[in-house]
Amino acid sequence: MREYKDGTKIVQYLSLVKCNKCGKEIHNGEDEFFVTEDIIPDIVHEIKISFGYGSNLDGQTFRMDLCDECIEKLVDSFIIPVDIDRWIFND
Ligand SMILES: [Zn+2]
Repeated sequence: MREYKDGTKIVQYLSLVKCNKCGKEIHNGEDEFFVTEDIIPDIVHEIKISFGYGSNLDGQTFRMDLCDECIEKLVDSFIIPVDIDRWIFND
């Protein structure tokens, strides 16, 4: 026999992401039942870089979120352009 009591279930959900570079805030809604985590990754991108042996940053992992605009500005500052794969083509 099991007896259940009303309780509070704490559930975390993604409600806000801030771009680390420009501070832009992307809200994902305040109601956990209507949150779709699929929206944020299309606008703000989580980037994780782990540094290993031989790196000056050995033993560290950088985690950051960057918005599309900041990624474009960063990439535009590169001397050598990045390789771009396109899976949607504009006519
Ligand atoms: Zn940004």
